[in-house]
Amino acid sequence: MLLDGTRVAHAIRAEVAPRVAAFHSAHSRPPALHIVLVGDDPASHIYVRNKERAGTDAGLRVKVHRLPATTTVDELLGTVQALNADAECDGILVQAPLPRAIGKHGTERVFDAISPAKDVDGFHPHNVGLLVQGRAVLKPCTPSGVIELLERTGQTIAGRHAVVIGRSEIVGKPMALLLLQRDATVTVCHSKTPDLASTCARADVLVSAIGRPGFVTPAFVKPGAVVIDVGINRLDSREAAVALFGANHARLTGFDERGSMVVGDVHPAVEAIAGAMTPVPGGVGPLTIAMLLKNTVTAAESIAR
Ligand code: NAD
Repeated sequence: MLLDGTRVAHAIRAEVAPRVAAFHSAHSRPPALHIVLVGDDPASHIYVRNKERAGTDAGLRVKVHRLPATTTVDELLGTVQALNADAECDGILVQAPLPRAIGKHGTERVFDAISPAKDVDGFHPHNVGLLVQGRAVLKPCTPSGVIELLERTGQTIAGRHAVVIGRSEIVGKPMALLLLQRDATVTVCHSKTPDLASTCARADVLVSAIGRPGFVTPAFVKPGAVVIDVGINRLDSREAAVALFGANHARLTGFDERGSMVVGDVHPAVEAIAGAMTPVPGGVGPLTIAMLLKNTVTAAESIAR
């Protein structure tokens, strides 16, 4: 069974639409999302374009602040503070990663400067603290999208053993917390986990958020398990695509048309043994954007209240 993220994302967007319209008529303006994009990272530009288009399609006002790669931490802090003070800005998203020169400390300062009430990514320590306590309003988009996908496709979470591969602040850790809050027994694995495949093979629900194409092979998967593939990996080599899919797979046609393809962390052979799994593309990706739209409306409603 393929878990259709595009369909679930569509349902979430349909629920967001009347809230956008109600806010618009009550405040004589649409909810407004401001995206700060620094530098020239091509993937970030694509992600931002998709968010901008989805937001505009949903009736939001989306403004993208494009800043050069040479922007300093102080300049970025100034941008964020101006948006915090702007009464017509409801949601702020600083697109990660920031340029290398900003550094880890600078990145933390920038993200910490975002008003928690406008933090539509749910990354601010205030919102992370609320998430740990199970009372966050603005939750990270990708893991909360995964929960929506599981629940809306009728997958049981409570009482099941969930294994999350990856412990990043934006996916792995919040994913584990959200599964725990829904009464799963949760194991978090990462690059230093020994016996990774056998640990994963005990999972009823396996979530992979690593960023390595085809890493999760059938040896990682209990027959019948629900497998969620968060990974987004671009393959530029036809050899690598053939190694993953075999020489005659239909997806190679797409590769030949575009010269590249996007694949997840989960090996295509897993499809034969998983009980249900997400495709890439068309799985978790569309949900991340749908949850961003939902968070923006939620932030707008809360600020206006
Ligand atoms: P990250 O690089 O911050 O974290 C990767 C995690 O994987 C780390 O915790 C690391 O310990 C673990 N890891 C790396 N190699 C491993 C190995 N060999 N064995 C076990 N664990 C290993 O990445 P991230 O930001 O969490 O993103 C993970 C993936 O999800 C990426 O492919 C990213 O593009 C994708 N992503 C997708 C969406 C979406 O909307 N679908 C959103 C965010 C991230």
